[in-house]
Amino acid sequence: MANASETGKDKARSSTRDRAGRETLRSWAPATGALLGEVPVATTEDVERAVARARRAQEAWALLPVEERAERVLRYRNALVDRAEEVVDLEVRETGKTRHEALISEVFVVADVATYYAKNARRLLAPQPIEMVRMKHRRSYVHYVPRGVVAVISPWNFPVVLSLSDTLTALIAGNAVVCKPSEITPLVVQKCKEIWDAAGLPPDLFQVVHGHGEVGADLIAAGVDKVVFTGGVATGRKVAAACGERLVPCVLELGGKAPLIACADADIERTARAIVFGGFANSGQICLSVERVYAHESVHDLLLERVVGLVSELRQGDPATGDVDVGAMTFPRQVEVVEAHIEDALAKGAVLRAGGKRRPGAGMFFEPTVLARCDHRMTVMTEEIFGPIVPFMKVGSEEEAIALANDSHLGLDAYVFTRDRDRGCRIAERVVAGSVVVNDVLANYAYPEAPFGGVKASGIGRVHGDDALRDMCQARHVNVDRFGSLEREPFWHPYDATTYKVILKATRALFGGGGLVQKLSELL
Ligand code: NDP
Repeated sequence: MANASETGKDKARSSTRDRAGRETLRSWAPATGALLGEVPVATTEDVERAVARARRAQEAWALLPVEERAERVLRYRNALVDRAEEVVDLEVRETGKTRHEALISEVFVVADVATYYAKNARRLLAPQPIEMVRMKHRRSYVHYVPRGVVAVISPWNFPVVLSLSDTLTALIAGNAVVCKPSEITPLVVQKCKEIWDAAGLPPDLFQVVHGHGEVGADLIAAGVDKVVFTGGVATGRKVAAACGERLVPCVLELGGKAPLIACADADIERTARAIVFGGFANSGQICLSVERVYAHESVHDLLLERVVGLVSELRQGDPATGDVDVGAMTFPRQVEVVEAHIEDALAKGAVLRAGGKRRPGAGMFFEPTVLARCDHRMTVMTEEIFGPIVPFMKVGSEEEAIALANDSHLGLDAYVFTRDRDRGCRIAERVVAGSVVVNDVLANYAYPEAPFGGVKASGIGRVHGDDALRDMCQARHVNVDRFGSLEREPFWHPYDATTYKVILKATRALFGGGGLVQKLSELL
């Protein structure tokens, strides 16, 4: 079994040199410690060349009608789905996640996102007329122009969907993409790139560059036109600074600390099953994972007992060798983070109700862990866990639950469980997060038609939804005269006292107290 420093984000051990003296990145199976393969690390010059090639390929791609771009992306979707089992097999070995998760959360979601945008791109990217308020003699519309080359920088927890979903969105909008996957999971993204090439699609239009964080930094510095970054808050700040320096727009999809509020009228069975699925799917390494439960005192004990019971039924093991519910953790350093959270919580009075330790033997298997009697003095309630721990806290009222849910520097997702849908929506509207879901967990990233993203330190911008496709373009405002033009507009040079008076009168008539605008707004 390779130890943490061998498999973690530790350049000295996770990369080596091949016979030609080129640096390569090695990928290890977290469930067994086996070496799975290696890929070459891109140099700064490699990255610059990739961006230059992408820029040339994009020029021809952007000239294609949007329907044709969509059709070619669907060709890729079909090839990916046809070879889904190959992707699933490799991903299961490279990440340690279960086969079900690799299929439904990765391949299925990519196919769904591609299908949604391919179907709707023509409508969404069609010029949007603007109703002119005063200048009725002129016509305006927004024309969507592809940005150019988009950098997609992705993490290790969902390497396929978090690389491909934004890539395919950018491509349909008419951009080229250079993707930098996590150094922890390069092989499965490389496989997706091979499927692109094998489908006969332009190789330079979608490229993958591998390496450590520096390769991501090189990519931003190589003159890309937009960055879509998914990863941790600390790296997100560096990416934002690098983009700010270059005035390049970026979308930042960062960490989460999703609260789950269980109201007094919550359905115990559904809520308990949602907590177990939401807390332990992908070993809790999901930005949307249920990371803290605030249960009303009238349901708290029942809910906790049912969760503990369900956790005891979970089967954990190597997902490559049989049906399991929970696989291995992917990122070695994350195991230490999980252990530190548990130690801190227990030292401050939490009670361990399930799990609590790494399983002995090969593989990074951490037991699904449930902690009771938690509170906000404990890091497990305030910092991102990104591992298989669900901490419970008893609350006396809905108000207390909302206040605690909002007591966080993060705001990506939140969940409310209640039998009263109106109450659910009322609470949802008061919880500060990018998405709040009533009576469900995790699924909302998988709605291609709905915007997804965070507030506070969870990020900037949105992926998915109609605006995300348009945001892959420059919104160019085009304004044209409707009926032929005068020799000059009244407010052009030369300026004189008469035109000044006319403009003053018009300003007062329109906007002054009792002016036209006020009268109209009183009438309407
Ligand atoms: P990191 O922030 O460490 O890395 C993300 C990506 O950025 C990796 O490809 C990484 O390369 C690269 N990178 C590192 N440094 C730089 C840099 N200076 N400039 C550009 N790119 C850089 O995140 P993790 O991979 O550890 O992923 C876990 C985090 O991702 C968690 O916090 C999780 O919450 C968040 N996440 C957010 C999601 C969302 O949608 N909001 C979804 C999934 C995860 P390398 O791996 O080689 O270091």
